[in-house]
Amino acid sequence: MSNTINIKKTELEISSTFSGDQLSIPIFEIFLTSTDATSLDDPYNIYIQSSMHGSELQGNAVIYELISMLFNCNKSFLPLLKCPLKFTLVPLANPLALNQKIHGHTIGRFNVQSGENYNRTYVNTENLILDIDLNLFFQDNYNDNYNDNHNHHKNWDEIKSNYKKLLKQKLIENRDTLVNSRGISYQQRLNIELQILASSADIVLDLHTAAQGMRYIFAPLYCYQNAFHFNFPLTIVIPNKFAGAMDEASFTPWYHLKKFFQEKNVEIPLEFESYTLELGNEESIDFKAAKIDAQNILHYLAFKKIFDHQEFNHNDINNNNNNKCSYQAHSELKNYLTYYSPHSGLVEFIKKPGEIIKKGETVAKILNFKNFIANKNYLDKDLINLNSLITEVAAKNDSILVNHCSTASISAGSELFKVIENYNLI
Ligand SMILES: [Zn+2]
Repeated sequence: MSNTINIKKTELEISSTFSGDQLSIPIFEIFLTSTDATSLDDPYNIYIQSSMHGSELQGNAVIYELISMLFNCNKSFLPLLKCPLKFTLVPLANPLALNQKIHGHTIGRFNVQSGENYNRTYVNTENLILDIDLNLFFQDNYNDNYNDNHNHHKNWDEIKSNYKKLLKQKLIENRDTLVNSRGISYQQRLNIELQILASSADIVLDLHTAAQGMRYIFAPLYCYQNAFHFNFPLTIVIPNKFAGAMDEASFTPWYHLKKFFQEKNVEIPLEFESYTLELGNEESIDFKAAKIDAQNILHYLAFKKIFDHQEFNHNDINNNNNNKCSYQAHSELKNYLTYYSPHSGLVEFIKKPGEIIKKGETVAKILNFKNFIANKNYLDKDLINLNSLITEVAAKNDSILVNHCSTASISAGSELFKVIENYNLI
C-alpha cells in the first residue's frame, strides 16, 4: 500500500418517477491508505448521510466541504494513518422527499402519501438483535485467548468484522423477505437500504436541521461526552435504545453486543458511535457555515484518533467558530420540551435559537386582530387597547431556545418552539 486517497461515486436506485426516470441516491466512497497502515480486511468506516428529511439541506453542503477538505489539504496526515480509512458519504439521501414541493416549499419531513416521519421507520434493530443468535455468534467468535493481550486486538477486530457482516446479512434478509412477500414501501426500502449501507460503519452521522434552529446534537447516553468534541453548543442525551431514528438503529446492535458479552463476563470495547447532527435552519444552504460544520466533524474524528495529526485538529476553530455559541451545554431528552401556541395569530420570535432565556422572559409575541371589537366606533385612540391584540409567550423556566417554527402565521395548538431545560454547562 502507498499513501493514497481516491474517490468513487455510485448511484443506488430507490424508486422511479411515473415517467420512468430513476430516483436514485448518490454514494461517494473515499478511500485513504498509508504505506504504514496495518492491513485490515475492513477499513475504518465513517458513514455520513444528509437530507433524509427533504427540506433539511445544510448537510449536503457539509458533505461537499468534507470532500473538498480531504482532497485539498496537503495530505500530510496520510502517512500517519494507523489503518485504512473509508468515508461513505450519502448526500441527498431521500430523493422523493427532496422533490415533495408545494408552492416553493419542501414538504420533506413526512411522507405525503403515508404521513410517516421519514426518520422514525428504520428497521427495529432491537428486534433484529433478538433474531440473531448471539449465543452462537459468541461461540463462533470468542476464544479463550481473548484476554491474552497479544491476541486481544486481533480477536476484537475479527469479532467486529464478523458482527458487521452478520448485521448486513440480517438486514438484507429482512429486505428480501419484505420484497418477496407483499412488497415493500418506498420508505421501508429507503430506510433499509441506508441501514445496509451503514452496517459496515464504525461511526454513523445523520445530518439534519431544525425548522429554525441552533446547532445541536442528539447523542446516546453511553458516549455523549464524546459528542462535545463536535464543538456544538448543545448536546441532547438520548437513551441507549431504539426509537425509530437512524442514529438509534445504528448504535443499538453494538450496545446489545457489549451487554451480551458482559453477561458472559467478557469485556469488549464499545467503539461504535452514531449521532444526529442538527445544522441550523431548513430550506437553507450556508457554505461558510458548512465549512465550519465540516471542520467540527473532522475535529471530532481527530479526537477519536482517526486522524493522528493536527492537520484537521484546528485549534483556530475554537476561536473562530461562528457556528458556536459562547457556551457548551448538555441535557437529557426528557428536558427537551415543546411550547404550543396558545392562540392563532402572527408570531414574532423575540428570542433567537441558541439564546439563553430566563424564567418569565418573553420568547414570542403573537398578534391576533380578533380582540378588536367589530362594529364599535372608537372615538378616542386611548380607548383602544391595542395591547389586547398581542399575546406574549414567556418561558416557564430557565432554558435555552433550541428551535422554533419557520412560519410566522401560526394556528392555536401548533408547535411554536422547543427549549431545553435543566441543562448543564460544560
Ligand atoms: Zn430531520
